[in-house]
Amino acid sequence: MELAGTIQEMRQVRANWRGDGVTVGFVPTMGALHDGHLSLVRKSQKTCDRTVVSIFLNALQFAPTEDLSSYPRDIEGDIAQLSELGVDAVFFPDKSEMYPSTFSTRVDQDETTAFLCGASRPMFFQGVLTVVLKLFNIVEPGHAFFGQKDAQQAAVVRRMIQDLNLPIEFHVVPIVREPDGLAMSSRNQYLSPEERVDAVCLIRSLQAARDAYAGGVRASEVLKNQAEEILNAVATARVDYVELVDPVTIQPVEVAKEGSLLALAVFIGKTRLIDNLILPRDPSLIS
Ligand code: AMP
Repeated sequence: MELAGTIQEMRQVRANWRGDGVTVGFVPTMGALHDGHLSLVRKSQKTCDRTVVSIFLNALQFAPTEDLSSYPRDIEGDIAQLSELGVDAVFFPDKSEMYPSTFSTRVDQDETTAFLCGASRPMFFQGVLTVVLKLFNIVEPGHAFFGQKDAQQAAVVRRMIQDLNLPIEFHVVPIVREPDGLAMSSRNQYLSPEERVDAVCLIRSLQAARDAYAGGVRASEVLKNQAEEILNAVATARVDYVELVDPVTIQPVEVAKEGSLLALAVFIGKTRLIDNLILPRDPSLIS
């Protein structure tokens, strides 16, 4: 496995593959890897000849009040897991090289960032888009793999690829969950044992709304209320948002239909967690 700690080293690794006509898959991460990240890696390995994983805690997407300084880090553990999986290269640049003091360009997007996490975290997607475009330009992948866990992020990056004509095939990988249904997240490490138990309310609330949809409810307000009722019953939970949106434009929808995205963000204690589900095609198929 190639270890590239600088942009120059990553470019050299990439240049060495150029003549081989290989397809390159790319999985950007912020580290503290778990099985959710690893499922993206496996999907890339199935799809492409080479897989590059980046580990970069992107300061640009954190507001000053957010958890940048406490975000979990385990670069050695991450590299060991990626080596075990047979990843071809890991890119872990320094913040000082990615954002030198002269850095002054930002990538922005309108429609898809107006709601959900874009509303709660105003500069968040600007930070995400800027770093993802930089990483794409350094790694030059033919394929990129993102998680459905961050459904709005996937929509935003997909739109950037389309709008800016990037020669990259975009893949979204399903959410990987703990046995009790909690979506895996690096931030789950922040939860106390009691909060960890409470955190299952995210998936429970999504399931309650999905069950109501299966029962014939189509009004967005009613489905959202169904989910909020579950969340409001949990003492440590504070709802940031529960919204039903179009999965491509991330604009609110009033009437639920197949493919609508039900997304939520909830503070469990001080930890902000997100989760979502896509309403299924045929409600009778819901188990
Ligand atoms: P992060 O390190 O949180 O920036 O995540 C890196 C990538 O892993 C993103 O594309 C996430 O959507 C994806 N990811 C994180 N958690 C999960 C999960 N539980 N299941 C699937 N993908 C995930």
